[in-house]
Amino acid sequence: MTEAPSTDLRDAGSTAPRLVLATHNKGKLRELRELLRGQVPGLDVDTQVVDAGAVGAPDVAETGVTFAENSLLKARAVAAATGLVAIADDSGLSVDVLGGAPGIFSARWSGRHGDDAANLQLLLAQLADVPDEYRGAAFVCAAALAVPGSAAEDCREVVEYGQLEGMLLREPRGEGGFGYDPVLQPSGLDRSCAELSSEEKNAISHRGHAFRALLPAIVEALAGT
Ligand code: IMP
Repeated sequence: MTEAPSTDLRDAGSTAPRLVLATHNKGKLRELRELLRGQVPGLDVDTQVVDAGAVGAPDVAETGVTFAENSLLKARAVAAATGLVAIADDSGLSVDVLGGAPGIFSARWSGRHGDDAANLQLLLAQLADVPDEYRGAAFVCAAALAVPGSAAEDCREVVEYGQLEGMLLREPRGEGGFGYDPVLQPSGLDRSCAELSSEEKNAISHRGHAFRALLPAIVEALAGT
């Protein structure tokens, strides 16, 4: 069945949005703009790469059971609603000794969505007796690209992954970052993620790796817009 996008923004002018990141997080938008700067001929990243709020894109429930499913749900919905190429990411912390948990439940591990302090304290308590050699963990990210077609079923989709591996500290360290940053120490470093500058973190982050892996598909998608 052919389904027209509800808000088609493709022809609105040369500074019109061409790529939407399905988020309201300004830090993620900044990271994506820096990654794309100079990579796509004719793309003005500061005006044409926008977040969901800028184009009135819908918030999408994360009902998937994997990072990839959730990122695809968001990218697909935003592409369908706007008619624009859309990107979404979904990420979390994967702890070896917990079999990959908290995983997709990272933001609500303590029961309250987005309570970073409670999530982190619960995790530290759960791992209190785990020896150092078994405290391996990684931030994991799936980044999805959705390129709308003339019909909903013609939407082209690509998913790429990124990881930031390290070990879990016994106490939070550092004031920067968010979420589990104060307890993950990246492999090869002697500081937690919360003790890194945002440039240092972006250079090695799971999201940075996933976005960079998606770059060729983004460039190809935008060449056709
Ligand atoms: P989101 O998918 O980026 O919204 O992340 C979901 C949850 O995973 C966050 O609420 C954090 O608890 C955790 N998380 C994801 N990425 C990071 C990170 O870079 N640092 C710390 N926590 C993160």
